[in-house]
Amino acid sequence: MKQICKECGKCCNPLVINIDLDMVNEYVKVKYKNVIVTLDDIVNDDLLFVYMCLTEISSEKAFNLVPKLKIWKKHENTHYFECMFLNKDKKCLIHNKLRPESMCGGYPFYGEDEVFDNRYHKGCGYRSV
Ligand code: SF4
Ligand code: SF4
Repeated sequence: MKQICKECGKCCNPLVINIDLDMVNEYVKVKYKNVIVTLDDIVNDDLLFVYMCLTEISSEKAFNLVPKLKIWKKHENTHYFECMFLNKDKKCLIHNKLRPESMCGGYPFYGEDEVFDNRYHKGCGYRSV
């Protein structure tokens, strides 16, 4: 079965990321102090992408969007986000163009061998059953 993204937007609405947001803020503050940030910087620097393009939402809002997130294993730094590139039809505005490779551009395999994992959303093109 060919696995392909159907661009349904479910895995981006919300995004679930385990990340230390204080570290992100500190990193960006130091690295990009007095720097004019370019789009190139954003798509090549995951932490800058998180800082510039994602907005954290509450777990309640995330669970309303995707109820099964309630039972996913959580990390102490699990956060839920909306992405500025997801339009109101739940399509990624930069799909196949500029998505950061190690953030969402490489999802779900990130250059590794394909894995069949049923944790993907219902209807996801990478889901085996
Ligand atoms: S849930 Fe699957 S099919 Fe939908 S956007 Fe994400 S990767 Fe693509
Ligand atoms: S850039 Fe596109 S694929 Fe990546 S998180 Fe944002 S909406 Fe999702």
